[in-house]
Amino acid sequence: MSHPVIDADECIACGVCVDTCPAGVLELGDESAQVADGDACVACGACLDACPAGAITEIAED
Ligand code: SF4
Ligand code: SF4
Repeated sequence: MSHPVIDADECIACGVCVDTCPAGVLELGDESAQVADGDACVACGACLDACPAGAITEIAED
């Protein structure tokens, strides 16, 4: 399984990754994006490419 790794210190909670993900993996928490449904991630990399803050550092494999 895959999931994005989010650096909460860099995240500006803009929601772009939440809107970009085609699989509904991400949700916006109080201060940063969070992985809500890691099982759904298809490792497309769209969230990583879209993040304006560089807060998604990698698509990790479990
Ligand atoms: S890699 Fe793709 S499917 Fe996985 S969380 Fe990012 S946008 Fe969603
Ligand atoms: S796109 Fe980047 S900065 Fe914006 S909510 Fe997602 S991880 Fe945070």
